[in-house]
Amino acid sequence: MSDLILFWHRRDLRIADNVGLAAARDRTPTVVGVFCLDPNILQRDDVAPARVTYMMGCLQALETRYAQAGSQLLVLKTDPRQGIAALATALHASAVFWNWDVEPYAQERDRAVQAALQQAGISFENFWDQLLHAPTDIRTGAGEPYTVYTPFWRNWSSKPKAEPAKTLAQATGLTEAQQTAAQKAGVIALPTAKDLGFVWSNALLLEPGEAAAQERLTAFCDRAIADYQEQRNFPFNLEGTSHLSAALKFGAIGIRTVWARTADVMEQARSDEAQDSVRVWRQELAWREFYQHVMYLFPQLADGAYRKPFQNFPWDNNPEHFQAWCEGKTGYPIVDAAMRQLNELGWMHNRCRMIVASFLTKDLMIDWRWGEKYFMQRLYDGDLSANNGGWQWSASSGMDPKPLRIFNPASQTQKFDPEAEYIREWLPELRSIDTEALVTGKILPLERDRCGYPAPIVDHAQQQRRFKAVYQQQKGNG
Ligand SMILES: Cc1cc2nc3c(=O)[nH]c(=O)nc-3n(C[C@H](O)[C@H](O)[C@H](O)COP(=O)(O)OP(=O)(O)OC[C@H]3O[C@@H](n4cnc5c(N)ncnc54)[C@H](O)[C@@H]3O)c2cc1C
Repeated sequence: MSDLILFWHRRDLRIADNVGLAAARDRTPTVVGVFCLDPNILQRDDVAPARVTYMMGCLQALETRYAQAGSQLLVLKTDPRQGIAALATALHASAVFWNWDVEPYAQERDRAVQAALQQAGISFENFWDQLLHAPTDIRTGAGEPYTVYTPFWRNWSSKPKAEPAKTLAQATGLTEAQQTAAQKAGVIALPTAKDLGFVWSNALLLEPGEAAAQERLTAFCDRAIADYQEQRNFPFNLEGTSHLSAALKFGAIGIRTVWARTADVMEQARSDEAQDSVRVWRQELAWREFYQHVMYLFPQLADGAYRKPFQNFPWDNNPEHFQAWCEGKTGYPIVDAAMRQLNELGWMHNRCRMIVASFLTKDLMIDWRWGEKYFMQRLYDGDLSANNGGWQWSASSGMDPKPLRIFNPASQTQKFDPEAEYIREWLPELRSIDTEALVTGKILPLERDRCGYPAPIVDHAQQQRRFKAVYQQQKGNG
């Protein structure tokens, strides 16, 4: 057995501030990275080409980072439940290290990999890296997990946060004999997303890789974070939010690094408003963490509604309405603009994610899981915990205690796109329509015809009443 430790990367595609990788390097200078292109994930029907393109770009950057540090990243394209132990055996590795994940599939996979390693007589170690606090560390006074965000935030934010982990500055890679053995064990050259059959021709909102994520964090903390509280809800202001979601999902940046940066900005903030803004942004990071904790502790969330009235909800599930929603052709400008942004960018502003999700579930009365899946098929930041959390919150089927939140598309537009800038950007056919009509949605039928823009496919006021009535009935049944 050699002193080699294999570090298995999954959603931590970086060498800076990586808890498991730093622990491996503390143990031995011979640390080699491995990433497994898992067919169980890549062959699912909810994989977004934009997301795979971002991920493969991150892997390319990671490969370079390993080479700069003197080691290498190995790539497998196989089921990790067999592939990881087989590779570790072929290389006579002393151990395999990796960081935990919260998703149900990941947990099942990791248990199988642990069993395979055990059988091969190879040790393993696991770490919490993608969260500031492990799911089991944040508990109510009675020792229970939180199911409501606000008390979770209070507890979570009061706890001290870890400093960033050490960057892998220098490591030793494989010997020539080990490289030959690695190839025999299935190691391949890193493919591109296109090689894997995923084509995304549009630009990505954030370039893949550690360097781009770091730059983005710096740029956001130097400027926009101070106005975040005020600007974050305006979808036409693309600079109002950080755009770090994909980097956080794939771990192109470490969460401790992000937190440490917010601490610096907090210290330097010159006004109460600027400090409040940093706090509000931190609250978003805590939402990310809350949804990951509950996914880990209540894995049934991945399969369906948390609240009883929604477990057998009589959704309309009209396929034509769903199609119109997906294509941005519902006749509601703010909804359609948002869906076109999603289809074009692989990203949608958070305010609009809430608006379109409310519209799908409350106005069209379509099962939120249809929307959840469509988002995963498009989002480059698509993440089971955040997406499921956002959808269940919007559908009122989740842990949020406000069951009948229904967004009115017109009043949302009046508040958050008052000059119809976002609508005009994403619905060019409506650019000539006056602002008042765009914002209220009261576009004359003749004008709609002239612009080739559809009539509303449902009536909001009517559907709102219907939804409430069905909900009351469901509650009674429960
Ligand atoms: C229906 C719906 C689906 C969503 N699906 C996803 C998803 O698949 N992946 C995803 O990362 N986010 C999702 N979100 C949350 C949120 O919309 C995005 O994280 C955010 O828009 C990303 O832009 P940003 O990086 O500029 O965010 P910022 O406003 O700069 O926020 C900073 C970071 O905090 C986290 N964050 C912010 N808001 C939330 C939230 N509500 N829930 C969880 N984490 C949050 C993200 O990691 C984000 O990058 C969803 C929200 C809704 C309502």
